[in-house]
Amino acid sequence: MKLPIHTPIFFRCPPLKSYNPGGDASDSSQKARSLFPAPPAGGRDSRPFWTAGIFFSALSVILTFCARTLPGFAQRYAVTVYPVLAGTLGRFCSLFPLSLSEAGLYILILFSLYYLCRNIKKPLRVLSRGFMICSCLLFLYTVNCGINYYRNPFSYEAGMVMEKSSTEDLYRLCAYLIDQINASIEPAEHTEGPLKGLYPGQTEDTPLPSPADLRAMGIAGQEAMEGLGEQFPQLKGFYPYPKPLMGPRLLSVQQLCGIYSPFTIEANYNREMPYYNIPHTICHELSHLKGFMREDEANFIGYMACIGSQSPDFRYSGYLMGWVYAGNALAKVDLEAYYELHSRLKPEAVKDLVWNNQFWDRFDGKVAEASNQLNDRYLKANSQEDGVRSYGRMVDLMLAYYKDRL
Ligand SMILES: [Zn+2]
Repeated sequence: MKLPIHTPIFFRCPPLKSYNPGGDASDSSQKARSLFPAPPAGGRDSRPFWTAGIFFSALSVILTFCARTLPGFAQRYAVTVYPVLAGTLGRFCSLFPLSLSEAGLYILILFSLYYLCRNIKKPLRVLSRGFMICSCLLFLYTVNCGINYYRNPFSYEAGMVMEKSSTEDLYRLCAYLIDQINASIEPAEHTEGPLKGLYPGQTEDTPLPSPADLRAMGIAGQEAMEGLGEQFPQLKGFYPYPKPLMGPRLLSVQQLCGIYSPFTIEANYNREMPYYNIPHTICHELSHLKGFMREDEANFIGYMACIGSQSPDFRYSGYLMGWVYAGNALAKVDLEAYYELHSRLKPEAVKDLVWNNQFWDRFDGKVAEASNQLNDRYLKANSQEDGVRSYGRMVDLMLAYYKDRL
């Protein structure tokens, strides 16, 4: 049971010298208050933070539980509530040219360090604030991303039938992709694109894209996704502006191309990676913003958006990315056929692929390994049973799409 503050247990007799006959009422009341022991460091003033933290955590747990167990809950949420969030918070954050989630991360780290130093002797105060911030972030993650993992897959909504495919189907798909890459490589086509002829054929010496190039690429990405929305009504609607990270090395060391920030509903990408990854990554992340969280499906949606784009840079990126996935799958079942097709690639595309491998090889190491394991666990925790391997299932989606088209 809690004791009232005036209980004699805590009461201390005032020292004799504290009595001041000449003092006014307010003076004596101040003195009287100072006689009580101070509450435990960070104790009483932390209560609102603990309460808010518990509230947001509980709400997140309840919503996740509903998404996992109640049939139709996540789907209804994804098509009713989530679009409102994306259309308000996402639209607002889209107004800023820089990544708010990245800026927020740096500010949060600096502020946390400052606050920790100032309150090092008040652990309860630090813990309560930390708990509340984590709970708020968990809540934002749940409503802007977590629930969407349990919605209907895009392939189901788009009526795609996933069937077993033969090696011949895979070969046909790969041959088609090679032809499309070569057709989309014409130098004249790329001089007017966002990268103004900087690629295809990128090497280590090619300069990084300028802010204006990145801006043009972001807008082209929005247009590509809006264009795909004409083909698939599930993808119709507004797309926020995708943003390059100020510190792209943060992603490179983890061997990541991009990241979706559920806290700000922003699509962020790595601006220092080889160019051909950028357009596809922009569209991949934008598909997450539309509420489709599965990695294989985001890859497929990104591919479809790129190849239907007005920009030759985007079309080239989509076909080359498609070939990397499909070609790797072909190499596993028929290495000779893979080499034969690879030899048909134009030299510029080969250069891009070589530079891509060289770039990512630089970041092979413990950080990338740990990040990969973390990503794997994260995807499995969100019922993506294949974890990071699910990225490869994009090939099955391409095969299903091209089944009667090739
Ligand atoms: Zn993704």
